[in-house]
Amino acid sequence: MKAARLHTFGAEFVIEEVPTPVPGPGQVLIRIAGAGACHSDLHIASGETQGIALPHTLGHENAGWVETFGHGAEGQGLEVGDAVVVFGGWGCGHCSFCLGGKEQMCDTFLWGGMGPEGGYAEYLLVPSTRHLLPTGGLDPVLAAPLTDAALTPYAAVKKTLPHLTAGRSAVLIGAGGLGQYGVQFLKLLSPAKVVVVESDPGKRALAQTLGADVAIDPLRENALAEIQEESGKNGAAVVLDFVGVDSTMTLGSAVLGRGGLFVLVGLAGGSVPFSFLGLAPEAMLTSSNWGSRNELAEVLALARSGDLVSTIEQFPLSEINEVFDRLGRGRINGRAVLVP
Ligand SMILES: [Zn+2]
Ligand SMILES: [Zn+2]
Repeated sequence: MKAARLHTFGAEFVIEEVPTPVPGPGQVLIRIAGAGACHSDLHIASGETQGIALPHTLGHENAGWVETFGHGAEGQGLEVGDAVVVFGGWGCGHCSFCLGGKEQMCDTFLWGGMGPEGGYAEYLLVPSTRHLLPTGGLDPVLAAPLTDAALTPYAAVKKTLPHLTAGRSAVLIGAGGLGQYGVQFLKLLSPAKVVVVESDPGKRALAQTLGADVAIDPLRENALAEIQEESGKNGAAVVLDFVGVDSTMTLGSAVLGRGGLFVLVGLAGGSVPFSFLGLAPEAMLTSSNWGSRNELAEVLALARSGDLVSTIEQFPLSEINEVFDRLGRGRINGRAVLVP
């Protein structure tokens, strides 16, 4: 099969022929319909993210059709040809996190496309049918980004809901591939005012189309004062940082109100000092790590209801290097999906 492989950190992907995987006992082979091009793959491809052995096929936002079952995987509610999305957090299946429904928190850290081979290819080997959810009528090309670009902000926003009472505000930093979904989940699930902070004018406009109450350019003079003004007199109840560099984390912690919750989602590796007087009293800082299989089912239900808008650009897999170049320069509006 054709696959886009990374052979050297910092180099381009190489499109090449590799053996098509054969599913072993319990495994399922998926024919890829589309794989979302995620910003975190930029960090892996550059070598910033440790622990990936090369050569490797990246791609952890996958959807497609069931191609073949390994021994014992048939008869578990799926048929050959079914359109499915792939839940990417492949846990051990028997630790307390896995049994609690949070396989993405499993210590084995087997994420398809970040260790096991991923979906920038014609086929994807999935270790178990439990990682597959029927799209239920959604086009699998358009559904692929739901498995990360939508699932990750969904899980992050759910953590913030107890803080988002009427009259309070949420500040969302970074309205790219994940942030565009984050805005929608905040508006769908909470009564809070949504203040988007984004330097790209096209992404600010998209965020407002998707329901943001206000969108502010952080590079503007007085941006901090403007964000504080829009957040209300008690400060932001919630900050969601989808970028995660030093400057966004500093800005986010500066606008966070008393007892507020800062949720870090962006993997850019930034940090912010944590001290008693450096933050508002009883402010809380946490990260949000992807989402669970059950939360993916909830995201699919929202997508099927028609309430969730996906802004997607499709590209052939052969253009993967151009796509990642554009992604690195912030030139993708919404999500890019690679189609083999
Ligand atoms: Zn991702
Ligand atoms: Zn586990």
